[in-house]
Amino acid sequence: MQLTINDKAYTSSKTINVLNPLTQEVVAEVPFGGREEAEAAVKAASEAYVPWSRKTADARADLMMKWHDNLLEEEDKIAEVMTKEQGKPFKEAKGEVRYAASFIRWYAEEARRIKGETIPASSADKKIVIQPQPIGVVAAITPWNFPAAMITRKAAPALAAGCTIVIKPAEQTPLTAWLLKEAADKAGIPSGVIEVVVGEPAVIGETWMKSPLVKKVTFTGSTPVGKLLMSQAAETVKKVSLELGGNAPFIVFKDANLEKAVQGVIQSKFRNAGQTCVCTNRVYVQEEIMEAFTQKLKEKVEGLLVGDGFEENTDIGPLINEEALVKTEKHIEQALKEGASLVTGGARLTEGSPLFKPTVLSGVTDNMSCMQQETFAPLAPIAAFKNEEEVITRANQSPFGLAAYIFTESLSTAWRTAEALEYGIVGINDGLPSAAQAPFGGMKESGIGREGGTEGLYEFLETKYMSFSI
Ligand code: ADP
Repeated sequence: MQLTINDKAYTSSKTINVLNPLTQEVVAEVPFGGREEAEAAVKAASEAYVPWSRKTADARADLMMKWHDNLLEEEDKIAEVMTKEQGKPFKEAKGEVRYAASFIRWYAEEARRIKGETIPASSADKKIVIQPQPIGVVAAITPWNFPAAMITRKAAPALAAGCTIVIKPAEQTPLTAWLLKEAADKAGIPSGVIEVVVGEPAVIGETWMKSPLVKKVTFTGSTPVGKLLMSQAAETVKKVSLELGGNAPFIVFKDANLEKAVQGVIQSKFRNAGQTCVCTNRVYVQEEIMEAFTQKLKEKVEGLLVGDGFEENTDIGPLINEEALVKTEKHIEQALKEGASLVTGGARLTEGSPLFKPTVLSGVTDNMSCMQQETFAPLAPIAAFKNEEEVITRANQSPFGLAAYIFTESLSTAWRTAEALEYGIVGINDGLPSAAQAPFGGMKESGIGREGGTEGLYEFLETKYMSFSI
């Protein structure tokens, strides 16, 4: 793989090793840039901006579709690299490549439908015209949990809108990002339209946030880093989109279809080893069905296979690093000490292993750390609730508001609860609500703005009002 910035070979005096989280083997040694590389990327994106934004929507869409096709053609190759550097099961990695490509396709189609409007003026000699225009050069900073999709979810609407983009992927998963860039280059997307820089996070972030050439920042990651970027962006009043942490409640009412509800927990909690920002973090079950639900969940969870992502039947791969494993152990230990019971799992597969057994705890209370903080691991803590009003209050008692899940067969309960939850995404009898055409994002400290759907496109467009006197 030839790494480039503005078509020049990307080398750096500093390098880092990309590690396989399962084996700790070195997957690759990659250049680890800083200010110089960050500036070079912005310069390239800035030079590419005018020609790219002036292309017809058709021309941009055609190039994007080639990029999309290249990703699908290289699905196996990209997925293999993703499993190596991130650990997720190969079948999930392939699913992510398709999911990532779906954003490019949807926004390529949507590029042709960016429309303005005219508004009747107050005097006969005036015309009011509204025209959306690309915002300019965009800086994107992305996490390791979805190394492909978090990039295309930002780059595809940016490109469709006519913006160019500089991307800093997480240092744990730079190789997938480079493969995406390579596929874009092969598609004929001009140099500078997408630039990827791997390197010192704080230095690159600060360089981009200070640059007057960067007009917008779009970030997915932790809440503290999101807050930092937002404050740095204030200096030049950059537009900001943030997709930050969550603490998703999963509410099972007594009239729920238990089969569906258990399946919902499996999908929303144990996918990607519990390392997604919309992962269920707290399971609330109405007390009448607690025993039946817990038993069913236990059986399903015990059927999940933990292991090497390259083995066909693996459902759960390793956690990203030792810190993540220690946090999980602490959450479990504290909960057990404070009165919770272990239903299944509770430890690493073997001592010192990066693989963690899928775990269910019951008898959990809201003050325990596993209910207050995002565990980001295959741990499902279950707490009992009595009625709708109480569970809504408890679910909303969080500074976060990204995703929530409700399982019930009653339309009225579903409607009332979904409306009352202070969450940007609500899955109703659905544990997998993400889709390219839907606006994804959080309320409260979970973020600003939306990704996906028409809303996700308008994050990269400015509204220009032109007033004509004729
Ligand atoms: P996580 O804890 O999931 O790794 P982070 O918020 O630390 O979440 O990481 C998400 C992305 O933010 C990564 O690309 C990471 O390198 C980047 N990042 C971390 N610290 C900073 C920073 N100070 N400035 C800019 N980006 C940062």
